[in-house]
Amino acid sequence: MNFTYNALPTRVIFGSGTLSELPAEVDRLGIARALILTTSHQGVGAQRIAQLLSARTAGVFGGAVMHTPVEVTDDAIALANELRIDGLVAIGGGSTTGLSKAIALRTDLPQVVVPTTYAGSEMTPIIGETSNGKKVTQSSPRVLPETVLYDVDLTMTLPTKLSGTSGINAIAHAVEALYAKDRNPVVSLMALAAIKLLAKSLPLIAENPLHGEARADALQGAWLSGICLGSVGMALHHKLCHTLGGTFNLPHAETHAVILPHALAYNAAAVPDVMSSLGEALGTNNVPLFFYELAGRIGADRSLHSLGMDESGVSVAVDEAFANPYWNPRPLERMEIEALLCRAFNGESPLAGKTVTNKDLSHGHAKG
Ligand code: NAD
Repeated sequence: MNFTYNALPTRVIFGSGTLSELPAEVDRLGIARALILTTSHQGVGAQRIAQLLSARTAGVFGGAVMHTPVEVTDDAIALANELRIDGLVAIGGGSTTGLSKAIALRTDLPQVVVPTTYAGSEMTPIIGETSNGKKVTQSSPRVLPETVLYDVDLTMTLPTKLSGTSGINAIAHAVEALYAKDRNPVVSLMALAAIKLLAKSLPLIAENPLHGEARADALQGAWLSGICLGSVGMALHHKLCHTLGGTFNLPHAETHAVILPHALAYNAAAVPDVMSSLGEALGTNNVPLFFYELAGRIGADRSLHSLGMDESGVSVAVDEAFANPYWNPRPLERMEIEALLCRAFNGESPLAGKTVTNKDLSHGHAKG
């Protein structure tokens, strides 16, 4: 098999208590006046960083929100100019990282990102921004953070349910990397490792959010999944989630948790090799059902209805999904996609329709 592999150049620091390395990291990048970015919910974390960086802290901007609205970016850049900053330190999930990337896109300022969810944005050169109600995504090496500092301790406060859905968001990056058009052996290795780490750790976190080993496994899985997302193209699952998130403003991680089993059931028969590898890694002969049950075990909502979508949205989402489709291993069939979204809307099992048969799902790895 021919392939092209592009390594992403971000420096990664991983562990427990690694936040103490932040001042040295900021110095290494030559940042003397940092703007600290976060959401309104994570002010305590931002203040902790402000104290840690002491004289290197120029200010704090706590207005990051989901989907990176350009008005918020404009406000942050106005503050950055006023404070004459020379670098960014972001603490939070994908929303905060998105704001940092949007500022870097316009200013080329160096970024240190301290992720506190499993979304994986910190490892990708991708930035999605919302303007006039429309989200537009682009890829640029300018937005890739110089340093990503993962501190497992900072994920302990991530609410239990969000930990589970954010973890499935990460699994979805790795799953789609396995059947990406531009997949390659390095990324596939990372993807399988990530899926194993997350599938093992997420139920443990659901039982005990302070489970240190499970939190470390989940964060390591999220890091690897982020590399997958940044390295190869995504397919039907991500297209549907972007469409649903963008059109109906559905919550990001929660939407991924609902859609993954259904998108995988749709693609299963077209990627028997991937289903076989996943079945082996997870110890199941029914991978879509495994992820449907995982979502149940971690307490995620399993229907689009429960996320606040109206039933009339199904046909709108189908139209959107066909308007500008991503490459997918199985060609898109309108009636099948509509049936998939109906099942997801109702929270039915991914096997409730006829898309996948047991024969499709069994490739000699039946393990119960
Ligand atoms: P988020 O960043 O919006 O975080 C959700 C909420 O949890 C926020 O209120 C946040 O403050 C809070 N939170 C985060 N970490 C916490 C912690 N450890 N303890 C307590 N509270 C915590 O959600 P997300 O799912 O991480 O990110 C979603 C956004 O990221 C979306 O806009 C999505 O499009 C984007 N995203 C982009 C990429 C990319 O590559 N460009 C990849 C993944 C996600």
